[in-house]
Amino acid sequence: MNEEIKRQILNEIKSFDSILIARHFRPDGDAIGATKGLQRILKLTYPNKDIRLCNKDYSDYMAFLGAEDGYVTDEDIKKSLVLILDTATSERVSDDRVLNGKKIIKIDHHIDNNPYGDISWVEEKRSSTAELIADFYQTFKDELEIDSFAATCIYTGMNTDSGRFRFASTTGDTLRLAGLMLDQGVEIENLQAQLDLRDFKFYSYQSDVFSRIKVTENGLAYVFIDLAMQEKWNLSREESSDSVTFLNMIKGSIAWIAFIENPDHTIRVRLRSRFMTINQVAERYHGGGHDRASGATCYTKEEMDALIKDADREVKLYKETHEGWI
Ligand code: AMP
Repeated sequence: MNEEIKRQILNEIKSFDSILIARHFRPDGDAIGATKGLQRILKLTYPNKDIRLCNKDYSDYMAFLGAEDGYVTDEDIKKSLVLILDTATSERVSDDRVLNGKKIIKIDHHIDNNPYGDISWVEEKRSSTAELIADFYQTFKDELEIDSFAATCIYTGMNTDSGRFRFASTTGDTLRLAGLMLDQGVEIENLQAQLDLRDFKFYSYQSDVFSRIKVTENGLAYVFIDLAMQEKWNLSREESSDSVTFLNMIKGSIAWIAFIENPDHTIRVRLRSRFMTINQVAERYHGGGHDRASGATCYTKEEMDALIKDADREVKLYKETHEGWI
């Protein structure tokens, strides 16, 4: 698929001496894994080119994949090819200075409502952007170099964004490409431990969250992590946001939402679902995203209550009109 665009992208990479790789702010495993994996492949293949990541924020959770590159000057940006990965809109770019790059290429798997860049390679059906990078490697594997570190980064992105290869977005291609990455020498036991293990204290926090989860009659599960809760457990923004995953295994709850209070008292909303879509709700509350994983913002508690009612209605409607959900 998209052979021509991929070839164009490779030709651009070949023609620039300075290449920057960027991603969205508040990066997740896919944003980090895809960018670092691509950087490594390009560095191995073109050792004489200057190939750096250019982002303003990082993820503690992904620190095991190594540190970020240092500061990139405005001058360097102006002369560079910029590859922006996993970033649906230009507003979500971590370091927006990269938009001043000489040429911009977008590579993404989110819905393409706001196209940007000189070249755009978007495949919405892919489970992750890392999967696109694995596919890019596979397409040009006679021309590109890879090693176990690059493969580990890419596999990490694929694994995390597909919910450990469990989400509906996981296809035969996803697993074949993940297999290709494993073949490069990924140490899967170590990687899985990096991704899954938590300090014991974390489970006390988790039990506190569980005691606060509410499930409506129709099966919508939700939890509100206010600032007091975050202070009580001394949580980072990332740790508080993780709470959405605690709600994902409740029978009959085909949609679930975590509300995380921001320091300015606005509320970050993380919506997830299985079987049904949920992004239509996110879109009504200043947000958007994938069918089954989207985000939004509530500016007041009243807005949060309205969103809960709205999502609950959607769950009820889905259950009334569909069979086969669990
Ligand atoms: P999150 O819960 O923040 O991991 O978001 C899940 C997905 O929804 C991500 O892939 C984001 O791209 C998308 N998303 C999150 N917040 C927003 C937003 N405010 N507007 C549009 N898309 C969003």
